[in-house]
Amino acid sequence: MARNPADRRRLYKRISLLLAGIVAGLVLIAYLAGPEQKEAEIGLRYGLTLDGKSWSTAIDEGNIRVELDRDAAKLLALYSTGSGNFISELDLAGSNPSTSNRFGNLLWPQCTRIATEIFIDQDIPAATRSQMRDATISVFLWLKELTGLYIVLTKGSSERGEEFSSAAQRISTPDDNTIAIHWVDKENTVMSPDELAAATMWATQKRGQQIPRSTRIRISSNVFDTMPDDEIDRKSRKMAIAHELSHALGIGHSNDPDSYMYPVLAPSASITPADRTALAIAGSRAC
Ligand SMILES: [Zn+2]
Repeated sequence: MARNPADRRRLYKRISLLLAGIVAGLVLIAYLAGPEQKEAEIGLRYGLTLDGKSWSTAIDEGNIRVELDRDAAKLLALYSTGSGNFISELDLAGSNPSTSNRFGNLLWPQCTRIATEIFIDQDIPAATRSQMRDATISVFLWLKELTGLYIVLTKGSSERGEEFSSAAQRISTPDDNTIAIHWVDKENTVMSPDELAAATMWATQKRGQQIPRSTRIRISSNVFDTMPDDEIDRKSRKMAIAHELSHALGIGHSNDPDSYMYPVLAPSASITPADRTALAIAGSRAC
């Protein structure tokens, strides 16, 4: 561990510059428990705790921009406990931030222009690539609406502007203020056969806050092949994509088995009032 302030500063700098990476990683969809273990180890390595502690600080300071219905809004009430800490109804509803440390939760500021890039493995058939692109775009637009964040589609969002996911890109760091999603053919060795998706986040510290720098998501074509083509608010490809991209916005796993942020998507999975509130909180960090 860092012995003196200079060492410690260097350590923090390294953390910021290299990436406080985290990974919410994730993997939703049914059948596997293994990858969850992997996520936790990576998060701890950078001094950030996965499935962060509580939304209450963010709720306290947040500047919520989106309209919430009554059930969702109700979850924002704060109650002080005897110990002097805050616990919110939202925490009780099972929703968690993805990563936290002593500087609080990792959330994008509202004025940051978040560029989104869609890369798809060329080994995947063109018709499937087109469906993947359309599904991913609709999820980004949905997240933009529910968080109020300044999300802009920049790369790979049309057939003419199609971007292929190269081996080098799948392991490189995206540009600052960018979320890059890579659809990877399930036969491709960049992902192990039992890995369905992984989100890696790079973070920096500014004025005592954890600010995301960029996020890279790899998602296996397996997800697309095995999930129904349905609406986002029920178990579907879009819901699976929404799960991964929500990690990129700072939302962690929910303890509620009916939530789309539960580690495994249940047949009953939906976008719960707590999920809507969490999305609003994820977009609530004032600049
Ligand atoms: Zn997950």
